[in-house]
Amino acid sequence: MKTNTTNTTNTTNTDHTSKNIAQVSFDQLLGKTEQHLCHLYDNVFIHQGMKKDFESLVASARLDGIEIKVASGFRSFDRQLLIWNNKFSGKTSIKNAAGDIINPELLTPLELIHSILLYSALPGASRHHWGCDIDVYAPNLLADGYQLQLEPWEYNEHGPLVKLSIWLNKHAHKFGFYFPYAIFKGGVAHEPWHLSYLPLATQYQHSFDLEQLSKTLMTSVLLGKEVIINNLDDIAKRYINNVCSAPSNVIIE
Ligand SMILES: [Zn+2]
Repeated sequence: MKTNTTNTTNTTNTDHTSKNIAQVSFDQLLGKTEQHLCHLYDNVFIHQGMKKDFESLVASARLDGIEIKVASGFRSFDRQLLIWNNKFSGKTSIKNAAGDIINPELLTPLELIHSILLYSALPGASRHHWGCDIDVYAPNLLADGYQLQLEPWEYNEHGPLVKLSIWLNKHAHKFGFYFPYAIFKGGVAHEPWHLSYLPLATQYQHSFDLEQLSKTLMTSVLLGKEVIINNLDDIAKRYINNVCSAPSNVIIE
């Protein structure tokens, strides 16, 4: 690991630093370290600074008959790189917002990149690197053997997880959580399963550094790299920085 990427940037420039001031490093931002994590269960790791509030949220939901589980917590740079390259090479299918599989052969490299970015972040730019962003579901609301797709319809009015969506929209803010992809803003799709823990996420978001991302991507085995680097400013504007703000009622201490 390069020593020049371990600089510590303490962020004290927000209203949300009264609790859990994270030692945000470039390695954490880029998914290159696991030192800020704790183990939850199975292969799920989350930021150690949010474990307590997350467990309180889970306990509260359980009282209302909803077993909240994390489908995906921390994801490393290498894991995100594999997801990206599998989609770019056609190994994994790419879906549009309607859930239809698209044909990558009909797309230019830049169009393909945008299609992937709808649901999958660039390696180094995933909020899952931070450990304080998680994809949640409720296994006890699903039929036996049901394979979770993480598609919006599952969480919407007629989907099996609607009860979870209603509960989270009503209560998640009391534990410091909100939905950064609450609505589609022209970048990342609406993701009703993706929760962010505000006290930590706000620090990572403010510490994000495009220059560091660019350097890291330059030295990685990333499919579509040249086109990505050439369009990185646009990609950052449209996807990485284009997230919903937390509602003002999110409790941070
Ligand atoms: Zn997610």
